[in-house]
Amino acid sequence: MIVIHDPKVLQQTALELRAQGKKIALVPTMGNLHAGHASLMDIARPLADVLIVSVFVNPTQFGPNEDYDKYPRTLEADKQVCEAHGVNIVFAPANESIYFPDASTFVNEHACSQGLCGRSRPIHFRGVCTVVNLLFNLAQPNVAVFGQKDAQQVAVLKRMVRDLHIPVEMVVGPIVRESDGLALSSRNQYLTARERAAAPQINAELQALADLAKTESDSKVLAKHFMDALGQDAVFEPEYIEIVNNSTMLPADKIEAGNTLVAVAVRMTESRTRLIDNIVL
Ligand code: AMP
Repeated sequence: MIVIHDPKVLQQTALELRAQGKKIALVPTMGNLHAGHASLMDIARPLADVLIVSVFVNPTQFGPNEDYDKYPRTLEADKQVCEAHGVNIVFAPANESIYFPDASTFVNEHACSQGLCGRSRPIHFRGVCTVVNLLFNLAQPNVAVFGQKDAQQVAVLKRMVRDLHIPVEMVVGPIVRESDGLALSSRNQYLTARERAAAPQINAELQALADLAKTESDSKVLAKHFMDALGQDAVFEPEYIEIVNNSTMLPADKIEAGNTLVAVAVRMTESRTRLIDNIVL
């Protein structure tokens, strides 16, 4: 495994590999790697000759009052996770090498990114689309693997790839959870002990909603059920629950099995950590 910091070196290396007929898989991450990230590497590994993992805390996807500064940066440990999962190249660039000081080009998706997290994080998906486009240009992947944990990100990026005719196959890995159901996230370490103890209820209530959806198809009734359940504990401040079409992220008034996504964001009131989770009905 090699570690590349310089974007030009990565691009040159990737172009040479492609010229030799090698297939490249890319797993983009912000580092602080956990079993969720590792699962994406395991999915990507057999799909290509060369597996590249990028580790980059992308400043353009964080809002001004978000956790960019405190986001955990653990490159040494991340390298070990990559090594253990058969990664060939870790790409860990510095900010200054990715974004020119006067960078003035961004990629905007205008449909899938409007609701859900896009409402409270207005520049988030612009940053995500821009950096993923940029990483595609540097790593030249044939295939890229993303996690269903960030379901809206998947929808936005698939739309970007379609609309811009980007020649990358998009593969999605399932959500990896703790044994108590909490979705793995680098942000879980911000939680207080009380929040951590309560947090599995988010997934439990999503499961309960999925059960209820077998007999109740009205999205408003289902959403209210979730809000009321989490509202019982003052540690949760639900930001949204949206029941949407899994591809378009547009509201689904009625449930369409296999194609309807329930996505939630919950603010934890002690540490102000924002957790997201989702389930496909
Ligand atoms: P991040 O480092 O949070 O930007 O995530 C990098 C990639 O890992 C994204 O495609 C995420 O959706 C994915 N990911 C994060 N957490 C999980 C998880 N618990 N299960 C599966 N994939 C995940």
